[in-house]
Amino acid sequence: MNGRDNYKQKAKIILSFDDARQDQYTAARELLDPLKIPAVFNITSGFVDGQRVFPDIQADPMTWDQIRWLNDSNLFEIAVHGHHHKNDLQDFLRCRKRIFEELNVPDREVIGIASPNSQLTDDFIDKNYQMYQQRGFSYIRTGPRYHSSQKKRKYTSVMERKCRTAARRISRIMENPELYSIAYSKNLQTIEDIYPEGRVFGKYHSVPVMGHTTWGQLEKLVKYTIRKRGICTLMFHSIVKTNEEKAPWSWKWDDFLKLVMYLEEQRSQDSMELVTPKIIRVELDEKQGHQCN
Ligand SMILES: [Zn+2]
Repeated sequence: MNGRDNYKQKAKIILSFDDARQDQYTAARELLDPLKIPAVFNITSGFVDGQRVFPDIQADPMTWDQIRWLNDSNLFEIAVHGHHHKNDLQDFLRCRKRIFEELNVPDREVIGIASPNSQLTDDFIDKNYQMYQQRGFSYIRTGPRYHSSQKKRKYTSVMERKCRTAARRISRIMENPELYSIAYSKNLQTIEDIYPEGRVFGKYHSVPVMGHTTWGQLEKLVKYTIRKRGICTLMFHSIVKTNEEKAPWSWKWDDFLKLVMYLEEQRSQDSMELVTPKIIRVELDEKQGHQCN
């Protein structure tokens, strides 16, 4: 059995938080850190610097002190989400520079990218990953597979793809656990999906968790991930306590609490692992290192 086969045996869940919103820091401090649940925080550095990057959102940005606390915890990963929340290399490099300045990280370190609004496609990543790798990036996390023309070929038929697109739309308006897991089951990945052909540059797909997503839907998806021994990246924006205003990109604190308790229970039963992209990369390198020796 080689390292990669060995690696596939247990399901993995990644919690991924976008934009550097203040409420995410609260969730990390009050829920994730006490339970030692890792997560990745994708920083929009211009937002943290006080610029008007998101005129439409009510959330406050994290402070650099809070981001330093996350980074120093050895539990949380920090990644690039654009200085001005743009999908271009210059904006990613500017964000990377700001993060490294504030966290006092040497410039040779590598760091991941979460594509703003999940706009970068699989095709784009496949064509351009070497340039990103040379500039010190280790992976790009983008959105569900339906963004990509290449991935569309993975669907067995046009009809299947249409059905899944319809399921995604319907799952937004109906509380139907089955429908949500059907809609997003194609976004579960294997280590070969993330690192095709032995590449060291990763390509992650995420499942959006939004205001309309219910706990029941997410529970179903987590169970499906465990059953399939897949890798599932859950993408969050704001985590709001019940008395706060609910925006389309905000998830309820109480539901998030249910999720983390459930994940903790599953992890304690050894049925899955809670990881970040950096943890996956380090474990993979260690396993491949052992193989070579
Ligand atoms: Zn964003």
